[in-house]
Amino acid sequence: MARSIGILGSTGSIGTQTLSVIRELNSLPESSSNPHYSVKLLACGNNRELISEQIAEFAPEAVCVAGEETARWLQEKYRVLEVFHGSSGLTRCASERMDLLVTAISGMRGLLPTLAAIDAGTDIALANKETLVAAGELVMKRAKDKKVKIIPVDSEHSAIFQCLKGAMRGGKRSVRRLILTASGGPFRTFSEEELNNVTADQALNHPTWKMGGKITIDCATMMNKGLEVIEAMHLFGMGPDRIDVAVHPQSIVHSMVEFTDGSVMAQLGVPDMKTPIELALTYPYRGNTARPGLDITQLGSLTFEKPRTEVFRCLKLAYDAAHAGGTMPAALNGANEEAVALFLKGKISFAGISELVEGAMTAHASAQLSCGEFDRAPGLDAVLAADRGARDYVRRSMNCP
Ligand code: MG
Repeated sequence: MARSIGILGSTGSIGTQTLSVIRELNSLPESSSNPHYSVKLLACGNNRELISEQIAEFAPEAVCVAGEETARWLQEKYRVLEVFHGSSGLTRCASERMDLLVTAISGMRGLLPTLAAIDAGTDIALANKETLVAAGELVMKRAKDKKVKIIPVDSEHSAIFQCLKGAMRGGKRSVRRLILTASGGPFRTFSEEELNNVTADQALNHPTWKMGGKITIDCATMMNKGLEVIEAMHLFGMGPDRIDVAVHPQSIVHSMVEFTDGSVMAQLGVPDMKTPIELALTYPYRGNTARPGLDITQLGSLTFEKPRTEVFRCLKLAYDAAHAGGTMPAALNGANEEAVALFLKGKISFAGISELVEGAMTAHASAQLSCGEFDRAPGLDAVLAADRGARDYVRRSMNCP
């Protein structure tokens, strides 16, 4: 029996790679360890050409697009297809029961559809870290109540997920700490002064991974690693004091787990997102897609260094938000999303990103300027209010409407 699968963000970087992994897995003989996949739902923005190709190849039952006009255009082209649009459409179609939903849209807009899928009992292949950053406790609790699996697609978390399978009896109790590796981004060696002058084009040029715009900027500021620390807290149930970051420019070791006996397990591989995507699909089995392994004799040296949090302020701010807990990570995330958008439009400097995030967090902590009120044990409404408040703060600081 084929497994039914949905993809939010099907035309993005993770979405297109997920479809290509599905294509590969479906071309191998079907077996209990390799069930084939039938694509039930594709959701994307407004890329008409690519979604048309995907519909032609994968024949989903339903599609969701961003704009109403694109939706109308698709509905006329494909009469039998169910077409949704907008954020309410996205949440509605994500609430249809499937075996697995890959959440590969970026940003906070992934939260409500993810919760809807969990409520429907659909397992989640999580490629939308902002969801867990902003509302990790809510999402993980809801998943536990509904007995829904949250399988990480983020390469670091996939690595930890794999290492934890080697924890022996004792499980999480035998874990001392998690070590997330970070490439350090394109500005790893830059001085603070050099960082102030970098442009969006420079920041979009990541040395080892090819990804969408928002996450690439997050890698350059190292906010991405900060968001991943918070993501790891929720996925693996660890406090921020037990999650460390090591800068590893080669991106070969994807993360590590240190156990109580001092043993450290690491997961290594070529930097290719198809590996963690495939694992999230085939779990608890490994796929048999013959992806290239590592030629370790050609690797040369693997290096690790401490992150420079005094220069990469965003990483420090994310740790601060992790320690504060409650709605603070939602405020951090909301402010960061807005600030990154402004940086990409050339409206603020690179350093302006961390300045605006820090300002929004300070305002949120003291409930200044109607920046939402800090709530230690928030429900969904408080999370959404903190997100909105932080975004308003950033826009107001920039005199944006
Ligand atoms: Mg990652």
